[in-house]
Amino acid sequence: MFDIKGLNEECGVFAITNNKDALTLTYYGLHCLQHRGQEAAGIAFRNEDYIEVFKGKGLVAEVLTDSLMASTSSREAIGHVRYATAGGLGLANVQPFSFRFYDESIALAHNGHIGNAKLLKRKLEAKGSVFSATSDSEILIHLLRHEHGAFQDRLINSLNQLDGAFAYVMLHDSGLYGIRDRYGLRPLSIGQLSDDSYVLTSETCVFSVIGAKYLRDVEPGEIVRIHDGKIESSFYARETSQNLCLMEYVYFSRPDSSLDGTNVHFARKLSGRILAQESSVDADIVVGVPDSSISAAIGYAEATGVPYEMGLIKNKYVGRTFIQPTQELREKGVRMKLSAVNEIVGGKRIVLIDDSIVRGTTCKRIVQLLKEAGASEVHVRIASPAIKYPCYYGVDISTYEELISNRLDVAELGEYINADSLQFLSLDGLQNALLATKYGADYPKEKRYCTACFNGEYVTSLYDSVEKFNVDKKDL
Ligand code: AMP
Ligand code: SF4
Repeated sequence: MFDIKGLNEECGVFAITNNKDALTLTYYGLHCLQHRGQEAAGIAFRNEDYIEVFKGKGLVAEVLTDSLMASTSSREAIGHVRYATAGGLGLANVQPFSFRFYDESIALAHNGHIGNAKLLKRKLEAKGSVFSATSDSEILIHLLRHEHGAFQDRLINSLNQLDGAFAYVMLHDSGLYGIRDRYGLRPLSIGQLSDDSYVLTSETCVFSVIGAKYLRDVEPGEIVRIHDGKIESSFYARETSQNLCLMEYVYFSRPDSSLDGTNVHFARKLSGRILAQESSVDADIVVGVPDSSISAAIGYAEATGVPYEMGLIKNKYVGRTFIQPTQELREKGVRMKLSAVNEIVGGKRIVLIDDSIVRGTTCKRIVQLLKEAGASEVHVRIASPAIKYPCYYGVDISTYEELISNRLDVAELGEYINADSLQFLSLDGLQNALLATKYGADYPKEKRYCTACFNGEYVTSLYDSVEKFNVDKKDL
C-alpha cells in the first residue's frame, strides 16, 4: 500500500477566440465551471502583442474583478479554475501559466495529471530547464522549447512525450489550441458563438449561459487549432482510445452538462433506476444527498414508485466538505452543509441515495443526521461502485488509506456508517446506464470509460506516480 497524497488536481478550463466580449464571456464560463475548483482562478488574454495573466486564490468572482474585465479589448482569452488537495496550493501553481520568449508567447491552462511528470522534469532540468511551479502543468512549455521547427511539429513531438490525463487550452501566437490526451480521460468540448467565434470548455453547461452552440467534443489525441475564425484538426497520436472518467458522470460534472454525447442528469437518473433494479428495499420515501445525488434519487424513486422527498436541505454557501484539510474539520463541514428536515423524515423508513463513498465521512454523518431527525430506518444506496483504488488521472481520490472501501467490505462499511443496509451500484450497471443514455436501449457493449478507481484497471503506465512515493510497482 502507498500514499499519493497531494498529488491530484481537478480543474476546469475555458477558452474563447475572436470575440469582442472575450474576457466577460471567460468570466461567465469560469463561473459556470466553479464547481470544478474553488481554490483559485485565473485568466490569460492578449494585450497588444503580449499575453497578460491575472490570477489568484479564491472564487472566480473574487479573483476576476470588474475593472480587470473593463481594462482590455482582447478578443481571445483562456481561463482556469483550480481545485487542489491540502498543501498543494502555492500561488506559483495557480493557472494559467504564461511564458514570453524572444520569439513567441504562450499561455496554458491544464486539467489532469501527467503520469511521467517526474521523469520528464528530471530530464528537462538536466538540459537546463527551470521550473517555477511544483505542479506538472508547465512541463509542456519546457518540452516545446526544447523542440525545433514549426510550432505544430514541436507541439506534436512534445505531446508524444507526455503520458497521462490532460485537457489543455493554450493561447499562442499561431492561434488558440485545445488538446486532449490520447486516452480521452479528461473532457473538453467545442462550442460556437458566431460564424467565426469559438469556445472550448471542460463542460458543456457553459454553452447555454454564454449563448454558444455545442459543436462537438475534442477527440482523444486531437489538437484543435482555432485561427482566423476557422477550426483545424490534427492528431498527435495514432493510437487513441475512449476512456472518459466515470467520476465525471457520477459526481464532478453539472447535471446540465453532456460529456461524450451523454447528458449527465439522464445518465445519473438511469443509474438510479438500475440501482433500484439491483438492490431495492421496502421504504416510505427516497431522499437524495443534494446536489449531485438528486438525479439518481429521482431515477430510483421512479423505478420503485416510492415517493421522492426533500429530506435533506443544503446550505449553498458552505464550500465542499472535501476541501477541509483535516478529518475533524471535514466532519464539522458536513454538519454545516446539510440539514435533515424533521417534518419530512420523522418516523419514516428512508432510502438514502448518495453518488459515491470516498472516505465514508459524509455518508456516516448523513445517516446520523437522518436518525437524529427521527428516521426509523436508513437504507443507503450508492449510485456508483465502491471506490477501492486511487486515481492517477487528476481526481482527488486519493490515498489507499483514505479510501474506506479499500479497508472495509460492504457489510463492514454498512456497520461503520450505521446504516440499516448498504448497497453499491455494480460497475456494469453504471456503465450500462451511461451507454443506454448515449445510444438508447440497443446500446453496444463497448469499453468506453475509465474504471480504474473501481476495479484497478489503469489505462496508462503508472511509473511516475508509484516512483514518486518510493513504492515498488509490485505493491500494486
Ligand atoms: P466522503 O465519503 O466523506 O469522502 O465523501 C463522499 C462524497 O464526496 C460523495 O458523496 C461525493 O458527493 C463527494 N466526492 C466524491 N468524490 C469526490 C472528489 N474526488 N472530490 C471531492 N468530492 C468528492
Ligand atoms: Fe475518473 Fe476514477 Fe478513472 Fe480517476 S480512476 S479518471 S476518478 S474513473
